[in-house]
Amino acid sequence: MPPLTSRRAPSRLDESLETVRGIGPHVQAKLQKLGLNTVEDALYHLPHRYEDRRQLQPIARLRPGRQEVFYGEVLAAGETHTSRKRRRLYEVIVGDRSAQISLKWFRYRKDWLQKRFPVGQKAVFIGEVKSYGALREVHHPDAELLSADSTMEQLFKSDPLNFGRILPVYPLTEGLSQKQFRKIWYQLVEQNAPALPSILPREILSRHNLVPLATAIQASHWPPNNASLTELEQGRDHWRQSLVFDEFFFLELGLALKRQGVQLEQGISFNVEHRYTIPLNKMLPFRLTDAQRRVLGDIKQDMMQPHPMNRLLQGDVGSGKTLVALMASLIAIENGYQVALVAPTEILAEQHFLTFELWMEKLGLKTALLQGSMTAKARKEALLSIAAGEIHLIIGTHAVLQEGVKFHRLGLGIIDEQHRFGVRQRGTLKHKGQNPDILVMTATPIPRTLSLTLYGDLSVSVIDQMPPGRKAIETKLFRENRRLDAYSLIKDELKKGRQAYVVYPLVEDSEKSDLQAATAAAKQLAAEVFPRNTVGLLHGRMKSVEKEQIMSAFRDGQIDILVATTVIEVGVDVPNASVMLIEHADRFGLAQLHQLRGRVGRGAEQSYCLLIPSQQYSEDAGKRLQVMVSTNDGFRIAEADLEIRGPGEFLGTRQAGLPDFRVANLLRDVRLLEVARQEAFNYARQTDYLTDNKSREVREELLARWGGRLELAAIG
Ligand code: ADP
Ligand code: MG
Repeated sequence: MPPLTSRRAPSRLDESLETVRGIGPHVQAKLQKLGLNTVEDALYHLPHRYEDRRQLQPIARLRPGRQEVFYGEVLAAGETHTSRKRRRLYEVIVGDRSAQISLKWFRYRKDWLQKRFPVGQKAVFIGEVKSYGALREVHHPDAELLSADSTMEQLFKSDPLNFGRILPVYPLTEGLSQKQFRKIWYQLVEQNAPALPSILPREILSRHNLVPLATAIQASHWPPNNASLTELEQGRDHWRQSLVFDEFFFLELGLALKRQGVQLEQGISFNVEHRYTIPLNKMLPFRLTDAQRRVLGDIKQDMMQPHPMNRLLQGDVGSGKTLVALMASLIAIENGYQVALVAPTEILAEQHFLTFELWMEKLGLKTALLQGSMTAKARKEALLSIAAGEIHLIIGTHAVLQEGVKFHRLGLGIIDEQHRFGVRQRGTLKHKGQNPDILVMTATPIPRTLSLTLYGDLSVSVIDQMPPGRKAIETKLFRENRRLDAYSLIKDELKKGRQAYVVYPLVEDSEKSDLQAATAAAKQLAAEVFPRNTVGLLHGRMKSVEKEQIMSAFRDGQIDILVATTVIEVGVDVPNASVMLIEHADRFGLAQLHQLRGRVGRGAEQSYCLLIPSQQYSEDAGKRLQVMVSTNDGFRIAEADLEIRGPGEFLGTRQAGLPDFRVANLLRDVRLLEVARQEAFNYARQTDYLTDNKSREVREELLARWGGRLELAAIG
């Protein structure tokens, strides 16, 4: 197969904005602030609103709350005051045959206004109409003066850029006016939009009533007069939708090829003989849930295939993913391969290590924990035995991904809590063996929109069932003045022999003071609130040994209350802990709160999550807290999160590998995303993408846009 290295030929579109007529260094600097560097950037800098200047409205029909354009003659003008004489203002009353309206200036030069708007002056005015009871006003309107003998028709003709059509309104930076901007952009679009290549196959476009890029861009800037303003403003017009489709198509094509590429690759074909899984099943104190069994079936199927597995395992906190991962590991191990498990934090890695080692040891298998904080000697020894193949299962943070770590025979790579890692980590892990199988696990339910993009090249299995006997966690919100009620609930639980977490947020730039707050709180809780109980403190700045000591003391029940910064966020598993108090709960994101809450409710008893917010918090924070109180369902929480934060921030854009779109909006355009995905996957199936001359252009465009970010070069 030829490697995919060809690039799109350089074109006019890649040129700097300097080269555009009407853009001098001064304006260019301003455009740069908007992130606009090339001609293509500029073409995609679309209006965020439109203004309807197709025809003038009679004054009687001007609608409050809208930007309107109207003709009028000055009837009276002069300086006056606001009603309670608070402020001076300049008022001009204008009228047409239908009605009158008042124009007001609060910041002005009097002599200038006097000269500009004498009684009898005719003009076209542009501005937002406001209504005060029955009165309508426009503040600080723009105006185009008409000379005594000129007519409206003449004005429209003489200035076709600003009148008689639907006008674009652009997101601006300071120091550029709409009018200036429009003028520059008009020329720019006229001259350069035709250079946009029309690469999507015609039959795909026409199937969905879409138009080529050049047309779509042109009309998005300057819609024809018969366009629907409502559709334009909602971004549902078929020009904007054509642009969205174009973006989605190439992304999905990339994902389709990635998936195909993996399917074509030679991988390990494992034999499933249940040499370890049957004994493990016998040892477990419980039966696998149906969901766990089903998911394990998917994974086994994949592992038996001669191509690498690339599967996402999604399941809410506490649904039993870890056990599934262990079972999958045992299949690789019985085939003589090693397994690597990568976790996002040291605490979680340790936690996994403890869980896995417990069972592995009973099965006569060896597990190692690789940590950033190991001594050089311990590390060297560990690396040697990994390279020699003496260790079957290697667990660690991204330390496992480091260059120095060499496996004897890596057969399966598992990434836990994938949302903390980027797409690239998957690639790194893959290259640690000869196309090992990859399993990524996440407790963050991924709304469909995102699973079509972010994880679009993975097959997905979902554990949609909790182990039996779990009671829903009860979540309560306590304002500061009811703090004692929260404490007394904790006391009740402690009396029953249960344990508690008290969690403090860590905000990066105030790490120290938060740490002090947590430390002070631990002392205070021990001395004043819970004098009969043992209180422990766990935070991110401790050495691993210390952390481990504290965690195991908590696990063994020697500590009743664990005060912690968010280091316990993921994966910690102490079933006897039945209550969690979260301080400054408003400072956490929804996903984080849900993860935290998942640390309780792991046994059969009723568990509680108590939220105490700061004295003051934002409206969004209030929404988050309400969501937490109202549901335990991780999927609904994720959807709410997506809604509150928007897709960009949902998973921390770049880091999570979520593509940013120029035009598309994941919330608005889901339907189109599904359509584009189908078309792209079809296209990828039908064309011999790598050798076909017909698809050469498509291929080059795809690489130009997504090559680096999707690691497509790996296909070659
Ligand atoms: P996750 O990783 O999905 O958050 P874990 O794998 O940590 O969940 O499982 C949570 C708890 O449930 C653990 O204590 C685990 O031993 C237990 N568990 C897992 N599967 C089952 C099952 N089928 N029945 C009962 N308990 C289970
Ligand atoms: Mg887990």
